[in-house]
Amino acid sequence: MKSKTEAIIIGSMNLGEADKLVTFFSLDRGMQKGVAKNARKSFRRFGAGLESFTYCRVHLHEREHQDLLRIESVDILTQAPAICEDLQRAAVGAVILELVRELAPPGERNATAFLLLTHVLQLLNGGEDPAFLLRIFEIRFLSLLGYQPKLDHCLSCGRQSAGEMVFHSMKGGVLCPDCLVASGDPQVRISTGAIGFYYQALRMDMDKICRLKPSAAIMQELDRTFSAHTFHILGKRLKSTEFLRTVCSI
Ligand SMILES: [Zn+2]
Repeated sequence: MKSKTEAIIIGSMNLGEADKLVTFFSLDRGMQKGVAKNARKSFRRFGAGLESFTYCRVHLHEREHQDLLRIESVDILTQAPAICEDLQRAAVGAVILELVRELAPPGERNATAFLLLTHVLQLLNGGEDPAFLLRIFEIRFLSLLGYQPKLDHCLSCGRQSAGEMVFHSMKGGVLCPDCLVASGDPQVRISTGAIGFYYQALRMDMDKICRLKPSAAIMQELDRTFSAHTFHILGKRLKSTEFLRTVCSI
C-alpha cells in the first residue's frame, strides 16, 4: 500500500551497500523508521531530503508482514541550513531531535507535537536564542506526550507553590519545604518565578512565545528541573546534552 505524509527527518544511518535506514517524525504516523533503497546512489529520488532537520513529504510503500516501511522518495518542503552552520544551534537541534527519538512513541500520531517540532526548528533556523528554544520545546513537548510535571502545588499537602519549592523527579512534581523529607532522591530547587514562566511557556500562543524574556537564573532552574525529569523518564541522560554542555556551556 502506498501513502505519503509530511515529516521531519530525525536521522539516518547507512544500511548495506547503498541503502539508508531513516528515522522520521511524521504528521500522520508519529515516529517511524523506513528503508530508503539505493539512497546513497539515487540523487533523483532523495537528493538532500534525508538530512536531519529537513521538513519533507515522504512517499512510503508498506508491505504486509514487513516491519519496516520502504521510503520510495522524498520531496523537500523546507530545509534548515542555518541550524548546522552554527555550533550552538546545531548542538541544541541535536538535543531536540534526540528528545523526539527517545520520547515519542513509535506509530502514534500526535499532530500538535509535530507542529511544535516544525515551528521550533523554523525559529532555531531563523536565529532565535537556541537555549531559550530548547527550554520551550522541552516544556511543551513533554506535556504533549503526557509527561507534564506538576509544579503549581505541593504534591504532598496540596499547598499552592510559593517561595521556593523543590522538584522531586521520582514524584514528577514539587514539594514545599515543610513536606520535604531529606532523602537520597535527586531534588532540584525551583523558584515561583521559574514555575510562573513554565506555565506561561506552556499556555502561550507559539507565535507570541519569543516575546517572553526570562532571566538567566530562571533558564538554569528549568534546565536542571527538566534534566532531572527527563533522566527519570528515560533512565539515562541524553547523549547530545553532554555535547551541548561541553561545547556551548549551556
Ligand atoms: Zn507541602
